[in-house]
Amino acid sequence: MEKILIVDDSPLQAVQLKAILEDEYDITIAQTAEEGLYRASNEDYVLILLDVVMPGMDGFTLLKKLQEEIITQSVPVILITSLSDVEHEQRGLVLGAVDYITKPFHSVVVKARVNTHVKLYNYRRQAEWQSMTDQLTGIANRRRYDRYSITKWREAARMQVPFSICIFDIDRFKVYNDTFGHPAGDKVIAAVAKTASSCLKRSTDFIARYGGEEFVALVLGDHSEKAFKHWNKVRQAIENLHIPHDPSVSEWVTVSIGGVTVIPQVESSYTSYLKIADTMLYDAKKQGRNRVIWADERMRQLSEK
Ligand code: GH3
Ligand code: MG
Ligand code: MG
Repeated sequence: MEKILIVDDSPLQAVQLKAILEDEYDITIAQTAEEGLYRASNEDYVLILLDVVMPGMDGFTLLKKLQEEIITQSVPVILITSLSDVEHEQRGLVLGAVDYITKPFHSVVVKARVNTHVKLYNYRRQAEWQSMTDQLTGIANRRRYDRYSITKWREAARMQVPFSICIFDIDRFKVYNDTFGHPAGDKVIAAVAKTASSCLKRSTDFIARYGGEEFVALVLGDHSEKAFKHWNKVRQAIENLHIPHDPSVSEWVTVSIGGVTVIPQVESSYTSYLKIADTMLYDAKKQGRNRVIWADERMRQLSEK
């Protein structure tokens, strides 16, 4: 069941609302705005019903705080109040509430409005997700990568944990397309994405299609030796798919991998390290392809063969 949060200081009113909605939703009640803010930031709600008049922090203030936080800003908020005058309604809507329900409530109206906004929210979330997903492979696309990389880089700088950037690219893929055709090439891109992403198991591991037959992955927490070894395994796993390549080029489809591991400093730029990973990939291609070349924390090269 989808979760709805009711923030209301009056237990009676909260219980009434709960009774109206609990057939269709999993309802949580918070009795103060502070508790509401905490729950909204830490749990996954599809809608928040918010009482305006509360002792301490009021509904308008909470609404403003919810709008300022990335995690909560897209969750629809319906204000519940007896303040039926236009001025309050206007204030709530300007602050970002999607709707306004005045007391006493009619259960049919509450249900209908809630259902409508939950439906809209789900459509929007789905559309957002699709716009950030690569259609061919089902992994993240460039847009999601652009957002994610900057956020994660800052997080790693704050926490002072090792951050690895890995770029890999299918070897001699132009020849593959020329020999087997573009649709067959597409299948290879999808198979490579699937294999690489199945090797990434932590919730902080991230992989995206960077463009064409090129991928980028971000891994937090491992030092260079471990990251390097891990990507050797990924490279091997892709070779082990035993997808026949054009025999004039190689027996199987393979990838070349370049990477770098660094503990980000606040002032250091993500882009400069991405360039280093790209240079490692370039070296891997130059040195014969189907290999991993990695720059460690002191910018020494680790390589396989
Ligand atoms: P290298 O080993 O140096 O990477 O050689 P390469 O041939 O893979 O590199 P190049 O950049 O010259 O060619 C990349 C090819 O990838 C050209 C392009 O037709 C193909 N390609 C890019 N995107 C797609 C795609 O979405 N589907 C298919 N089937 N092919 C693609
Ligand atoms: Mg290539
Ligand atoms: Mg390429």
